[in-house]
Amino acid sequence: MARIDQVLSHPISGAVPATFTIIPSQPGDMRTSITPDAGLCLNCREELFDPINRRYRYGFTNCTNCGPRFSIIEAAPYDRCNTSMRRFPLCDTCEIEYQSTGDRRFHAQPTACAECGPSLWLEVSDNNNVYARDDSAISDAQARLKGGEILAVKGLGGFHLACNALDKNAITRLRKIKQRASKPFAVMCRDLDVAGKYCELSSSEADLLTSSAAPIVLLTLKPEQLLPTAIAPGLNRLGVMLPYTPLHTLLMECFDTPIVMTSGNRHSAPQVTDNTQARKLFSDEVDAFLMHDRDITNRVDDSLVQLIDGTPQVLRLARGYAPMATPLPRGFDANHPQLLAFGGDNKNAFAIAKAGTVVLSQHIGQLGTVESLSDFEKNVQLYLKLFEVLPAKLVSDSHPAYRSSQIAAAMADALDIPMDKVGHHHAHAAACMLEHRLESTHPPVLALIQDGIGAAVDGSLWGCEVLYCDYRQHQRLASVKPAALLGGDKAATEPWRNLLARLHETYGPHDAWPAMYQKRLQDKPLDVLIAAKEAGVNTPLCSSAGRLFDAVAAVVDICSERQSYEGEAAMKLQAAAEIWLANNLTPLPYSMNIVRASDQLLLVDPIPIWDNIAADVIAGAHSGEIAAKFHLGWATVWCRIVERLAANLPERPAIVLSGGAFQNRLLASMLSKDLQLAGFHVLQQSLTPAGDGGLALGQIAISLARSDREPDTQQE
Ligand code: ZN
Ligand code: ZN
Ligand code: FE
Repeated sequence: MARIDQVLSHPISGAVPATFTIIPSQPGDMRTSITPDAGLCLNCREELFDPINRRYRYGFTNCTNCGPRFSIIEAAPYDRCNTSMRRFPLCDTCEIEYQSTGDRRFHAQPTACAECGPSLWLEVSDNNNVYARDDSAISDAQARLKGGEILAVKGLGGFHLACNALDKNAITRLRKIKQRASKPFAVMCRDLDVAGKYCELSSSEADLLTSSAAPIVLLTLKPEQLLPTAIAPGLNRLGVMLPYTPLHTLLMECFDTPIVMTSGNRHSAPQVTDNTQARKLFSDEVDAFLMHDRDITNRVDDSLVQLIDGTPQVLRLARGYAPMATPLPRGFDANHPQLLAFGGDNKNAFAIAKAGTVVLSQHIGQLGTVESLSDFEKNVQLYLKLFEVLPAKLVSDSHPAYRSSQIAAAMADALDIPMDKVGHHHAHAAACMLEHRLESTHPPVLALIQDGIGAAVDGSLWGCEVLYCDYRQHQRLASVKPAALLGGDKAATEPWRNLLARLHETYGPHDAWPAMYQKRLQDKPLDVLIAAKEAGVNTPLCSSAGRLFDAVAAVVDICSERQSYEGEAAMKLQAAAEIWLANNLTPLPYSMNIVRASDQLLLVDPIPIWDNIAADVIAGAHSGEIAAKFHLGWATVWCRIVERLAANLPERPAIVLSGGAFQNRLLASMLSKDLQLAGFHVLQQSLTPAGDGGLALGQIAISLARSDREPDTQQE
């Protein structure tokens, strides 16, 4: 599990020491990083199924190469007494292993065996009495899953809700419990063979699944549709993970079909980690609990990764990857102030910087509910304690209404320290630059940021832009012709509103629209919304890429009425396009205009697509073909814009692609290929999320680069 960051050598005097010793931890400045949790290693797996091994079928087997780390730590340094394993004194045999230099469990802090370690049981929801223990708890849980029951399973970083992935009734029930209408569920498969029965599986995807991080990997479903569509409605991909703890390995042993494993939480609340809380929340909902007594100190959700043209892209950075510590690139001042960056309100993750290292937190999630905010603050305090950080400055997003920005402001006040605000899209760009280790003085890049909505430093709402930027400054050179968000926030959940806005802008009053569009929106309050737009009531202008994708989705009747989760319409539009492109010749892209606004800004004007889409719909074109032509046209027009902008620059810049829309694998792949063909060096995120989960890294880089430039403004 080691990762070499640096090799230093110091000559020593005197005789070469005869042995290697680990001395007890001493108080002092904390510089070590906290290791992420790791999936069951092959050696431990062998022991688990070896009848003469003393850990045969023991559900908490681990060693220095695998097992819980961050999820059980309470304080630094990482010693057993600072973890939730403190409650389990080592038995004599475990103690000998722990002390033996040659043993795989030498100083393995969470080591345990059936004699001294945590144990496992199953309780039924009626009375929460223990119904079975150890191996019989496993076999009982297996029988219940086969029989269609829903179980709450306590894992490594939190509870999952589990059911048989082939059982439609169980899935329907699970959707009710989670209050989740159509957001896809992830599944767990016993091994690669089972996963390969249902999904296409490349060797790099297999490598990711079996890596020690053991994330959920988004795999393309086989066209035969062997699983109920209710698992991932309208999508062509499925999130799949392999068992990553001994407990999961034992549980999955008898299944040659997938088991749904979705995080155990109520709608938009954080995943449950605690036994009592799980009983309270789920006793009326699930049939049984598979539980254990190793406390989860820190919640870590499952990480989510996809492969784009063979390169992994982390969509959710959590178990197995977080906390993610990276050294700052060259040129950043090694004596920089300690920083805490708050990220954003969506898909929140925060970051700290200390002594030349940046640490990105695990995915915290949506900030908004009281529960999620207190979870966020708890995690921030934990990181400050674990990494012994006393922030000298706080950094937040520019958005004044973000809860994360408000919490940062209150904390800066309380600690009496300065605060930096960073434009949302500049932060996206800097996050990508930091991941690629661009030096602090790197010449400016052209950053193509495609996002939902982000606040600029002047308070205006941006969505999709090309920035000419370095770590310190940014200049906006291109964007999308903005459209009104009819009904404000409602435009983000009801795609037809965005179609209406674009049609009105293209054709004017609705009696002038092509008949097909009139029919599509005939039951909508068109006059009321247009009147509101003209009066400027609750209809802010926005250049969002996401809302334009929503408008196109609405034409082909994908989530036209409502999206039940963020990005649903765009994800389904992408799926339709991918399925079409996999089975047909690549069609000609829809063309879009490039216009120059009065302030010299280049704008993509999608106006021509509406006539073309109407003609295709009338000609009976498949929705997948329309989706494909739109994706192709969108990639083409942005490539042309980048070429035009680059032609006017003194040096050919590197191209940064970042923002939530680049989690659209099709778009990311098409654009990076087009730009590379045009001769550009293209930088995309792989290890850190291109969406808002990576924002905090960019905030850190920008704030540090700015304070490097103004060394004299810092006061004691
Ligand atoms: Zn191991
Ligand atoms: Zn033991
Ligand atoms: Fe964003």
